[in-house]
Amino acid sequence: MKIETKFRLTALFVFSVMLGVSTVPYFTAAASHATLGDLRDSLARQRQYERLLDVLRDAETGQRGYIITGKDSFLTPYHAAVGELPALRSAMLAATQRTADDTAALQDVFKVVDWKMGELAQTIEMRRDEGFAMVEPVVSSARGKEYMDTLRQRIGALEQAEEARRLSLREKTEHEAERAMYASSAATVVDLALLGILLVLMFRLLGERKAAAAALNDAAGELERNNAEIERRNRWMATSAEMLQALGAISSLDETSRIIATYAAKLLPSVSGTLYLYRNSRDILEAQVSWGARAAHAASLEPTDCWALQRGMPHATHGPDDLCCKHYAAGARQERLCMPLVTQGEVIGLIYLDAGADRQSFLQEREAMIVRMAEQIALALANVKLRETLRRQSIVDPLTGLFNRRYLDETLRRELSRAERKQTPLCVIMMDLDHFKRINDGFGHDAGDAVLKAVAQVVRHHVRESDLACRYGGEEIMLILPECDLAVALDRAERIRAAVAALDIHHAGRTLGAVTASLGVAAYPEHGRAGESLVPAADQALYRAKQEGRNRVLAAP
Ligand code: GH3
Ligand code: MG
Ligand code: MG
Repeated sequence: MKIETKFRLTALFVFSVMLGVSTVPYFTAAASHATLGDLRDSLARQRQYERLLDVLRDAETGQRGYIITGKDSFLTPYHAAVGELPALRSAMLAATQRTADDTAALQDVFKVVDWKMGELAQTIEMRRDEGFAMVEPVVSSARGKEYMDTLRQRIGALEQAEEARRLSLREKTEHEAERAMYASSAATVVDLALLGILLVLMFRLLGERKAAAAALNDAAGELERNNAEIERRNRWMATSAEMLQALGAISSLDETSRIIATYAAKLLPSVSGTLYLYRNSRDILEAQVSWGARAAHAASLEPTDCWALQRGMPHATHGPDDLCCKHYAAGARQERLCMPLVTQGEVIGLIYLDAGADRQSFLQEREAMIVRMAEQIALALANVKLRETLRRQSIVDPLTGLFNRRYLDETLRRELSRAERKQTPLCVIMMDLDHFKRINDGFGHDAGDAVLKAVAQVVRHHVRESDLACRYGGEEIMLILPECDLAVALDRAERIRAAVAALDIHHAGRTLGAVTASLGVAAYPEHGRAGESLVPAADQALYRAKQEGRNRVLAAP
């Protein structure tokens, strides 16, 4: 049962019992009130008996005085008694206990009273009619005294009976008083006990209310904390969604790294970090970008320097007592987290976070979210890498590593319009290997491929960063030289020709003999303003070089 219901029921019960208990004094008082009434009645009867004797004594005194003196004035008390007696008698009858015995005893008394009053009337009559001498013997006889004695005796008996009754009434009163005392003490004890129970229940109720209020308070606090946590998560999710969207829109690794650094600083305020990317060629991880105040992290690290990389899972440390990685910057009591970036079971990089000394467990609290973020970053990085590879594959010739024809067309258009805009020169060089068929025929297609690779290497070696070398067709190579005039281009072509001629290529244990090339050079704007005119001009120069004996460089006319 709930404490409140218990309390209500108990209160109702206590109220009823107290109500009952409160009537006890009334009943005991009513009983003693009745007893006291009886006592009063008994005393009144006692007074009536005394009065009756007094009245008769007065009447007798009046009679004596009259008989001795013969004066009527002495009869006043007698007449008063005669006048008072009827009323006194009826009052006595009314006041008597209405039992047969009592009434009979009273009638006996009245009988004697009548006799006495008769004797008095008779003697007074005699005195008046026959004189003192006649009445004297009558009066002197003991009859009148006998009546009076009888009366005194009977009234005495009655008085004794009343006395006994009063004694018993007094005893009864005492008993009742005693009972009333006990009853009221018991009632008080019961009341106090019930009040005590009620108080205990009330305190328990208050206690429970207080506990409930405290629980409610706790729940409210918990709710507030949860809301704050949800709010934090929402902000985190919104920011990381924004980051993913930004990452999805770009395809360069540098820009990707920059975005990761920007958003990492936003998501983890005052946490420093570095993004490392794995270089397959050297088996190390190189720092790609750093952020935060304590960003002086190692520029590169070996996989064995980091527990996260070695175990392929996040590795957190909270102080110098934990298992620290070799690549950590010095600093005790710092919270740090290494997150390997893994896609399809392959480590592609590492995010290293350093939360500093004053933010204990900041990273720990967010580790699950950081792990998810790292997974998404790894995916984004893998995408960028894939896109870069695909783009590379789409513009690079796989055999020679030079750019392909498609990319050349694109670049030539772009460079020509730039040259036009900037009013700078531009040259194209068209190169074709001499008698290449013979190599194929003499040594096989693989040997031809080896020659192509070697020649491409030479070409790459002779161009600047801004120049573009591409495989135009089978064994034809074209170069675009922006901001380069005809003279410089001819010089460059000559150097290439000489370098190719100097090649000593071996394949399958055999020397392939001398390889030469013919080159035609055309310049913008002298030989054409668009690719459609410039490339044929270079081609024609090449054609002429072939005609004039090969292994030479010619400019377009
Ligand atoms: P010329 O001096 O007149 O240029 O004589 P050439 O034999 O080089 O004649 P041409 O340029 O017409 O011949 C091109 C030959 O290059 C045809 C083809 O067999 C060969 N070739 C084209 N692409 C490849 C390739 O990828 N690998 C190999 N091994 N040979 C190729
Ligand atoms: Mg050729
Ligand atoms: Mg050819």
